[in-house]
Amino acid sequence: MKSNFSATKSLFDIPKDIIYLDGNSLGPPTTITSKKINTFINEKWAKLLIKGWNSDKWIDKPKNIGNRIATLIGAENDSVIVGDTLSIRTYQALHAAIKLKPKGKVILSDSGNFPSDLYIAQGLIESLNLSYELRIVEPHEVFDCITEEVAVLLLTEVDYRSSRKHNMLQLTTKAHTMGAITIWDLAHSTGVLSVKLQEANADFAVGCTYKYLNGGPGSPAFIYVAPKHQAKSENAIKGWLGHASPFNFTKQFQPSSGIDKMQIGTPPIIASTALEASLDIFDIVDIKDIGIETIKLTEFFIDQTHKHCPELKLISPTCSQKRGAHLAFAFTDGYALMQCLIEHGVIGDFRMPNLIRFGFNPLFIDQNDVSKALEILFDIMQNKKWDKPEFKVKSYVT
Ligand SMILES: *Cc1c(COP(=O)(O)O)cnc(C)c1O
Repeated sequence: MKSNFSATKSLFDIPKDIIYLDGNSLGPPTTITSKKINTFINEKWAKLLIKGWNSDKWIDKPKNIGNRIATLIGAENDSVIVGDTLSIRTYQALHAAIKLKPKGKVILSDSGNFPSDLYIAQGLIESLNLSYELRIVEPHEVFDCITEEVAVLLLTEVDYRSSRKHNMLQLTTKAHTMGAITIWDLAHSTGVLSVKLQEANADFAVGCTYKYLNGGPGSPAFIYVAPKHQAKSENAIKGWLGHASPFNFTKQFQPSSGIDKMQIGTPPIIASTALEASLDIFDIVDIKDIGIETIKLTEFFIDQTHKHCPELKLISPTCSQKRGAHLAFAFTDGYALMQCLIEHGVIGDFRMPNLIRFGFNPLFIDQNDVSKALEILFDIMQNKKWDKPEFKVKSYVT
C-alpha cells in the first residue's frame, strides 16, 4: 500500500478529545482549509474583485474540480461538473434521462434510497404531469424488477442507513439490456470507495462533496453525464451559465456543449476553495487504498462489537464487499445511546427508527481511534450510562 494514512490524518483539524465517526455525514475541515479560504478572501477576492473571474480562473472551477472528482469515481475527463446541491443534480439527471426517451414508463428505485431522491422523482412526475410511475421496491428485489417497463433506474449505490452496496456493474448491465437508463447517486461512495463509472457503463451519476470528500457543510454537488449522452442531454434548469455564450446575453437559450451545459448559475467560489483544499489530500493517496483500509476498520469494529456488545444488532452486510464505509446497528434506545456517546467524545449519528451509524474514513480515523471508541462504547453499554432523561431529548438535526 503506497498511501500513508498517518500523513493524511495529520492534515485534518479535529479536536483532540473527539473521535469523529461521522465523516459519512459531514467530513471535517483540513488544516489548510481556513488558510486557503482566508487567502482567497484577502488576496484574491479583495484584490482582484470582479477581475478574478478571468485572471484567477474562477469561472473554470466547476469543470476543473469536476475533473478532479472524475478521477475518484472512474469517470472520463470532462464528464463531471460541480455546483448546486445534490437534490438539484438529481432533478437534472432524472429530467435528462427521461428526455433521452427510454421506452418504459417506470422510474425504478428502492426503499433504501435517500428520501430526497424519491421526493425529487415524485415531484418531477407531478409538476411536469408526466405519465411515469415511481416504483419503489426492496433493495434485494431491484435486479429482478428491472423489466422492459423500466425507463430509468434511480439508485443510491451505498444505502445511507444500512450501508448495503448495490452491484453497479451488474444492475447497469441489466438495465441496459432492458432499454433503461441508469442514475447512480454516489453520496456515500465518493471519496471512500473505488467507483468505476466508465467501466460499469453508467449513464448518469450525482453526488455531494461534504461527506467523504470533506468539502464543508453545503459544499457544491456534482453531476456526471456519460460522454455518449452529452450531446442529447438537456438541462432541466436553463440558467445563463448553461448557455453556449452566456456573455452574449441573448434572449433565446442555446445550450452549451459537453458537460458545461449542466451548469445553471454563478458557481460558489468560496465553497469551491474549501473543497479544493480537501481534494489536495486525495492527490497523495490512492482511492483503492482508502477502500482497503475502510474494510480493515469496519471488520475490526464488527468483530469487537459482536464479542463484547451483542445487544447492538448489526444491520449492515457482514460481507465487506457488499457494504460502504459506515456501519449501522439497531438498538431500541439508539438515540439516547448516541447522545451519550457524543457526550463522551465519540461522534456518530442516529437514523430513525432505531439505528446508530458510525462512519470510518481512513483519511483521519485509524485503528487506535476505533479501539478507543469501542472502549467508550463498551463502558457505556455495560453501565447503561445512556439511560438518562437528558440523552432522550431530541434535537432537530439527528
Ligand atoms: C446526503 C444525501 C443527499 C443530500 O442531498 P443534498 O441536496 O445535498 O441535501 C441526497 N442523496 C443521498 C443518497 C444522500 O446520502
